[in-house]
Amino acid sequence: MIRVRFAPSPTGMFHVGGARSALFNWALAEREGGRFVLRVEDTDAARNRPEWTEGIISALAWIGINGENPVFEGPYFQSANEPQHREAVAKLLADGKAYFCDCTREQVQARTGSEHKGYDGHCRDRGLSAGAVRFRTPDEGVVVVDDVVRGRVEFPNDAQEDFVIARGDGSPLYVLANAVDDITQAITHVIRGEEHLSNAARQQLLWPALGATPPVWAHLPVIVNEQRKKLSKRRDKVALESYRDEGYLAEAMVNYLMLLGWGPGDDREIMPWSEMMPLFRLEDVIPSSAFFDEKKLRAFNGEYIRALPPEEFIARCASYLDPSWDLEVFAKVAGLAQTRVAVLSEITANVDFLFLPEPVFDQASWDKGMKNSPKEILTGYLARLETVSFDPESLKTALEEVGTEHGLKLGKAQAPVRVAVTGRTVGLPLFESIEVLGRERTIDRIRTALAKL
Ligand code: GLU
Repeated sequence: MIRVRFAPSPTGMFHVGGARSALFNWALAEREGGRFVLRVEDTDAARNRPEWTEGIISALAWIGINGENPVFEGPYFQSANEPQHREAVAKLLADGKAYFCDCTREQVQARTGSEHKGYDGHCRDRGLSAGAVRFRTPDEGVVVVDDVVRGRVEFPNDAQEDFVIARGDGSPLYVLANAVDDITQAITHVIRGEEHLSNAARQQLLWPALGATPPVWAHLPVIVNEQRKKLSKRRDKVALESYRDEGYLAEAMVNYLMLLGWGPGDDREIMPWSEMMPLFRLEDVIPSSAFFDEKKLRAFNGEYIRALPPEEFIARCASYLDPSWDLEVFAKVAGLAQTRVAVLSEITANVDFLFLPEPVFDQASWDKGMKNSPKEILTGYLARLETVSFDPESLKTALEEVGTEHGLKLGKAQAPVRVAVTGRTVGLPLFESIEVLGRERTIDRIRTALAKL
């Protein structure tokens, strides 16, 4: 049975790159009827925080990776496995595959004459019984990491130092703990970001030393931004949580993330998980870097929003609306909004005019809207509003007439009315909005605007 794992370190917000790795693992496990193990690598106590662990678990659940699916196993916590990690170190020592070392970095540098050369093997045969523990790497030959995505990657052994697997205080290092856990959890495929390829070279040696056959390796391409720079939390919006909070739909996010390094093979890009998952093949992942295009993601999200059944759209918008706003009133304009918003949080600015006692005011929008004969337009429209039949067609014709009287096309004539009524220069179709707002409130707002001019 295929067993994959996702092994995040809870040292910050959950990165979209992590989510992509998780999804590729998840797709393979689900398609093959295997298992997906969630293992939280929480051994770096100084950098871990419980809220980040919770954040990762809830963000994974949001994109559908959770215990509701029998493929899911865990979460396990790496810190709980420390006894096994220590045991593995002891066994490697006992077998002569590792040794103690008491060299300081300065001593090593003084001997090798360089801070880049790595460890020189000084303690290999000194037979020490305390200190840091180093793994004895072969002197000759190459380590081959046979990677599904990158092909055969060779690491010459003479460039591989005897790396540390446990600190002087006995605490095991990541490279070892990760391998030991993968072995104990019977992981068959290690699918993770490319930045771990150098760990794979070491782990390719550790697995057999610990009596296990190395897994299938697959190192996924880096994700880059518009400037082709690796996506970084300091520079880019990388937290999955912030996309969720902004109103990206999980379905759209999942769809988009799956395309970072992989594609279903035809021209289709918008494809639900249920169709994508059976098509996913690790062999089809491409090694070149993947561009995280936020604009494209937005466009995807807009498409997913438009495809929602109307009542579902209303339900998903609810958490972005002020709780005091009447959802039945919202429902009257929801259909107009559904075709216009790309992320759910944009809903507020589109509909707040219906709920606030007065439209929002900002000077820039006001100035922009009140450019062309605003007094004349508003006064003329106000006169007609008293008697016009209150449906979008008639409301439009009335404004067209006022515009013609002052030599303005409808587009220009709409601007002052829109700002007077909604406070904004862009928004939902104006005459439908006015219809829902009602005669009395519309008249009121136009009067107020006139008084301000
Ligand atoms: N804990 C590691 C990280 O978050 C992942 C290690 C792995 O996937 O092997 O980068």
